[in-house]
Amino acid sequence: MATNKKDIRALTKEQLRDFFEKEGDKAFRGNQVYEWLWQKAAHDFEDMTNISKETRAMLEANFVINHVRVDNMQRSNDGTIKNAVKLHDDLTVESVLIPTSTRTTACVSSQVGCSLDCKFCATSRLKRMRNLNPDEIYDQVVVIDNQSKLYFDRPLSNIVFMGMGEPLMNYNNVLKAIDKITSKEGLGMSPRRITVSTSGVPKMIKKMADDGVKFKLAVSLHSAIDEIRTSIMPFNEHFPLSDLRQALEYWYAQTKNRITYEYVVWNGINDSRKDIDALIKFCKFAPSKVNLIEYNPIDDGEFQQASDDALKMYVSMLEKNNITVTVRRSRGKDIDAACGQLANKS
Ligand code: SAH
Repeated sequence: MATNKKDIRALTKEQLRDFFEKEGDKAFRGNQVYEWLWQKAAHDFEDMTNISKETRAMLEANFVINHVRVDNMQRSNDGTIKNAVKLHDDLTVESVLIPTSTRTTACVSSQVGCSLDCKFCATSRLKRMRNLNPDEIYDQVVVIDNQSKLYFDRPLSNIVFMGMGEPLMNYNNVLKAIDKITSKEGLGMSPRRITVSTSGVPKMIKKMADDGVKFKLAVSLHSAIDEIRTSIMPFNEHFPLSDLRQALEYWYAQTKNRITYEYVVWNGINDSRKDIDALIKFCKFAPSKVNLIEYNPIDDGEFQQASDDALKMYVSMLEKNNITVTVRRSRGKDIDAACGQLANKS
């Protein structure tokens, strides 16, 4: 429900401590409440059992906890779970749990809709409504961590920012969420288990490098030829490959972290030798690997997954050039939970 009360999770720990001091209480109370809000991910002030009844009522009068709510949960026959996650203002994003025999990966959203216009992605058909707040990103991770414990008997192991939205266009909030996810006062996850996937915003890639972030970087490349990339990812016109290349070289120089290029091969679009040669050249600018992703059709048939032969040609040419390449089978297709299929259909 929309309300005028302030979202308590917008406060830093310091601000919470100050708040309690001003209320004539001990600053330490702020630490206790902070722990309830983040580490214990409480949904209600009522749950804060080591806080007095009066204090809980006072908090209730001043603040809300805008915890997200799972509105609809679908399970794929391959074990993938897709959640429609309702936000406090009734907008919805989707978050996906992807299990393998050894890992549980959370695929989380960073925006409601997306401002980019990738022609092959279902999310691009929803216009960008707003950025998610740090707590809304954090909550998606908590939801999936709980589902992993419940259905797979183990905690969440990895996080990918490959849901709805462009994470680097909501950079500050994504970073704040990752700080909470990796902090001991949050989920205490290693940043090396987190991958931020971007369509490639050069200025922000440089900023990330300067900020010394510790998570991994994936770039949705799909073509290393400007003309083709612009035709399928029109924003490439404003952020051409030469700028992207420069930013990635800078990223590697600063962080020494290898880059993953995500790449779908489509029939008649990027399935020729010329495309492969351009990719190989691009991969040599900074240490990188290529993840060939299976295309998940988004119903109008304009794009078609390239033939197995074209894929094999990519793999063998990349390997011949000593570039690590993996082929990723998609998961959760039957429930529209796979990459590029998140569009709030249900
Ligand atoms: N905006 C970010 C993250 C969201 S998209 C980005 O562009 O990286 C997550 C990944 O899914 C990207 O690599 C994207 O290119 C890919 N993707 C989008 N639509 C797809 C589709 N229909 N089939 C397969 N992958 C798709």
